[in-house]
Amino acid sequence: MALERLLRGFADFRVGYYRDHLELFEKLATEGQSPKILIIACADARVDPGILTQTRPGDIFTVRNVAAMVPPAQWPPDTRHHGTSAAIEFAVRGLGVEHVVVLGHALCGGIASLVDGRDSIYASYDYLSTWTAIAQEVRDLAVRELSGRPRPEIARAVEQAAVLNSLSNLMGFRWIAEKVTAGALSLHGWWFNMTEGQLYAFNPATALFEAVKGVSIEPTVASTTALSAIKPARLLAAVAGKKPAF
Ligand SMILES: [Zn+2]
Repeated sequence: MALERLLRGFADFRVGYYRDHLELFEKLATEGQSPKILIIACADARVDPGILTQTRPGDIFTVRNVAAMVPPAQWPPDTRHHGTSAAIEFAVRGLGVEHVVVLGHALCGGIASLVDGRDSIYASYDYLSTWTAIAQEVRDLAVRELSGRPRPEIARAVEQAAVLNSLSNLMGFRWIAEKVTAGALSLHGWWFNMTEGQLYAFNPATALFEAVKGVSIEPTVASTTALSAIKPARLLAAVAGKKPAF
């Protein structure tokens, strides 16, 4: 049933979207892809970056994993399987993207399991908690600083702090830090609230995730950003310590 729906969808795509964009697909097939943007998003079925941003094939290079996390750079590289890091490397070094967007979201199950820790129903899974522990430090900080506050508020703070933690980890990859410093790459921290259909972007000037109103937006981390300003602990304090803008 579920698969039939997919195949019906593909049949519609074949005679509809594909045919309508035949020239674009031919161009992408012959010239290859050259996206300017890498989006790192959650694997959550409700948060599809292509649909949220109404992009066309070839526009965005996308990495999706649990909770839209970027692991710390492994240096020197080892022989383990760093899937997210490999995709980021290909986008930045191979494709030369100009922007990297980390897109977190409200009601994130991966973040919820991190917040719940040993109480999570996923605590005994083989890989999940080890993966989300990428943001363990900021999770612990948020839980401590927001002690006694409603759980949804704590979860939201961790969702947003995890985005900042990922941005900080991105700067740990030497080829990203070099490009950001040279002004060839900028990093963006976004958070999507699906219950109100609103996108928020982290503004380093106010240290808040602010509702995106127009089509112009400043990068969260640009060549003018002091590297010390993206330390996750400092940013988490900013997220947790200020009244949310929404
Ligand atoms: Zn999620």
